[in-house]
Amino acid sequence: MSERESLTKIILMEDNEYIKKKKTELTENIKTSEEELKELRKMCKHTDVQVKNTNHESGAAHLRRVCSVCGAVFGFPSNDELRESGYMPK
Ligand SMILES: [Zn+2]
Repeated sequence: MSERESLTKIILMEDNEYIKKKKTELTENIKTSEEELKELRKMCKHTDVQVKNTNHESGAAHLRRVCSVCGAVFGFPSNDELRESGYMPK
């Protein structure tokens, strides 16, 4: 192995170590944030539940009953709720 090749290998290993460490850190942050969000949603009285599209990535609509205050999801809307929210013709 040339000096350049071995140097490249060391840099790659350091990159992998950095990525691995950062991944662990971020995964831990996500877990903590999710727990905090859960606690926050327990505090909410869910006074404003609306029909919303919960899928923002693909084009397909995922209509659910969502609290507009804390973002908690309460399952599928009824046909009446779909009509009221304008997702279904009256
Ligand atoms: Zn809520």
